[in-house]
Amino acid sequence: MNTIETFERLFPLNRSITGNGLRQSLSIIGEHIPLNMIEYPTGMSCFDWEIPKEWNVKEAWLEDMEGNRIIDFADCNLHLLGYSIPFQGVIRREELLPHLYTLKDMPGAIPYVTSFYEERWGFCVPYNIFESLDRSHYRVHIDTELKPGSLTIGEGYLRGRSKQEVLLHTYIGHPSMANDQLSGPLTLMMACKWLLDHQDSLNFSYRILFCPETIGTIAYLSQNIEHLKSHLIAGYVVAFTGDRGQLTFKMSKDKNSLANRAALNILKTGHREHQIMPYTPYGADERQFNSPGINLETAAIMRSGPGRYKEYHTSLDNRDILSEESIKDSAGFLIEIIKNIEANTAISPIHTMCEPKLDKRGLYTTLGKNGEDKSLGRQILAIWGLSDNHDDLIAIADTLQVPAYSLNQALHKATEAGIIRTERESEHDTKSKEQNPV
Ligand code: ZN
Repeated sequence: MNTIETFERLFPLNRSITGNGLRQSLSIIGEHIPLNMIEYPTGMSCFDWEIPKEWNVKEAWLEDMEGNRIIDFADCNLHLLGYSIPFQGVIRREELLPHLYTLKDMPGAIPYVTSFYEERWGFCVPYNIFESLDRSHYRVHIDTELKPGSLTIGEGYLRGRSKQEVLLHTYIGHPSMANDQLSGPLTLMMACKWLLDHQDSLNFSYRILFCPETIGTIAYLSQNIEHLKSHLIAGYVVAFTGDRGQLTFKMSKDKNSLANRAALNILKTGHREHQIMPYTPYGADERQFNSPGINLETAAIMRSGPGRYKEYHTSLDNRDILSEESIKDSAGFLIEIIKNIEANTAISPIHTMCEPKLDKRGLYTTLGKNGEDKSLGRQILAIWGLSDNHDDLIAIADTLQVPAYSLNQALHKATEAGIIRTERESEHDTKSKEQNPV
């Protein structure tokens, strides 16, 4: 997948929380990841919410009475208020102004404004243009369609040996902006590429969600909460991952969740500059996953984060502020977390009563000389030596100050040598890989 090429294809589409721009975007993503399109019909109730009408835009513009076009949706889809109802007519300047949204302190920027749950019409304009509107009358043409339809979600599922699932979630429901929201899908697509390349050896299953923000995630949870509660072991919301700010990991609500431990182990043993935030119910859709009653332990991966960069929700959130390096780094972090979850298992000792004699088993050098490579043998002894005290491989790796997945070979050798047993091994003895996904 070429990230920038995919970005260029997705960027111009008129996405919203429903509509054809959203479907087109999901079908482009679906060229790279096997995605199921789920359609939730208008009026469907989801907890405290309801799926709204579907919104599509044919054209929208504002002209003066001489026919000079001042604003055109065709130039930038941010010009139209998100979910604007249709409106046609000639109106006085004083009537028009309350329908225009602008940002005085960013005079060149078009603000991103929506009215999903109350019917309004309107345009979003740079303050420079707003200020120059000095005619008495204007012609408004908003040809939109707001009618019963459906809300679309893209869902992928990669089956591993276990039916236990890791959830990878991002947003897809904003029009032409880059960091919010295309960075999340692009990062997730990169991580999914890794999963697809390793699909035959995955221990866990992966549920991949591309949801319109808030309502899409709430709708999905309302339909799948029972399944997720019994299958989910960790979740990650991936959004705002493309700006040049440093990597930010926002923890899930329970500090000791697997979602947190798998990620913190990577951050604490690696070289990435980063910051760690506790869970707060502000931000992206980790709010829904961690909400009372839902409580699916879901952390968030971002850079600066929502509202914490000046171009947020304006036309200045464009290709210029997007860093391919940040996307790669964010995806690399997520892949390392996945490798940690894949590697993790509960461990208990089989051999007891002083150290096992590893050289007898061909796992330690018999030459007592400085400079001999003892690293694998030492890792095997460390895993065994902590196995009756530490809960799992991540806990052992934290003590050894290495990424959990870097102990894969030592774990395998120690299991093979019969000095420890892993929970996964006993699982695999009894359960063979099932062929049919849920
Ligand atoms: Zn947003």
